[in-house]
Amino acid sequence: MKYYSCLLAIVFSIVLIEALAQEYSNAYGKVIEYKNEQPYETVFVQPVKNNKVKNVILMIGDGMGLTQVSTAWVANHGRLNIDNFTHVGLSRTTAANRLITDSGASGTAMATGQKANYHSIGVDVDGNPLASITDLAIAKNLSTGIVVTCGITDATPATFCANNEDREMEEDIALNYLTCGVDFIFGGGRNQFIHRQDNRNLMDEMKNMGYQVESFWDKVSSIQKGKVFALLEDGQLPLYPERGDVFKDACMKAISILDQNKNGFFALLEGSRIDDCGHWNDIPKLMNEMIDFDQTIGKVLEWAEDDGNTLVVVLADHETGGLTLLDGDISDGLIKISYSTGGHSGILVPVYAYGPKSEMFDGMYENTEVFERIVKILKLK
Ligand SMILES: [Zn+2]
Repeated sequence: MKYYSCLLAIVFSIVLIEALAQEYSNAYGKVIEYKNEQPYETVFVQPVKNNKVKNVILMIGDGMGLTQVSTAWVANHGRLNIDNFTHVGLSRTTAANRLITDSGASGTAMATGQKANYHSIGVDVDGNPLASITDLAIAKNLSTGIVVTCGITDATPATFCANNEDREMEEDIALNYLTCGVDFIFGGGRNQFIHRQDNRNLMDEMKNMGYQVESFWDKVSSIQKGKVFALLEDGQLPLYPERGDVFKDACMKAISILDQNKNGFFALLEGSRIDDCGHWNDIPKLMNEMIDFDQTIGKVLEWAEDDGNTLVVVLADHETGGLTLLDGDISDGLIKISYSTGGHSGILVPVYAYGPKSEMFDGMYENTEVFERIVKILKLK
């Protein structure tokens, strides 16, 4: 009997070791090379002298840690539009109940100023709904916008518009868009609005609420004013470059419409799919997403330089993939990298600020401070 249980233990151990070895032999630790032959031109903007903030544009690179920025910088031959930022801080991303956050808890911290539990959306640790920056901005008669490349019921955009203890409840989160009052809403995720358990057609309901509801970019591009609800896909938008310049164009369209409000605006612009590429440990796809996000940053910075009263904050909600830059060559855009996880990591993430009051984002702080500082700057409380 003793002999058999001993044998069983040995066999079980071998199976377990093999299973673990398989899991870790995927891409983790393996050195992967990538080379970008065609760097893009970056813009150069002057620091803004003015001190009055009318608008805040918050740009989130989902899963965009310092290594994602550093690798993109080397791959683009030593330059990025991000280089223009005059003030830089570091944000701690922990969730209320876990060291390693998800986009729900981190988005909630930045959108509402309170640390939240893993997977929760716009609620406190007891499940009570919290007011977000967008809620406070709407109450002060500012215009608001959300532009993302994922579904709008995905975690990050949801934290600025919805309240739910579970990010998976996407059909319920969709209902929150009927009442949140955001003026310009753009992304994917039509399924949660038209293919629902309750058979409601929320696209029609949004139209009845006065939104210009569109499913094609050509239609969105010709809109000049008013409320916009545009979902171009059933699920997420395709990756860059397959989706073309639609993220850049949608961001600039949102800004041009929101800027018509003399009280100012708050806009959330998210490079949502940087995170997916981290989860897949796919460096070519990641570099493409970083290019699209950084080029959009270039366009936004040029607009903000010209405007003079807009604060632009670019940051991440967490890092994804445990990406490491091991070697490379700035002169030809070669990078040698490795990944250490298919999930998120717990490292501090960068916060870049440009424009009036940008100095307020210097230092090292919890991600809840993103909310606190924007609310203070826009005098939302
Ligand atoms: Zn995320």
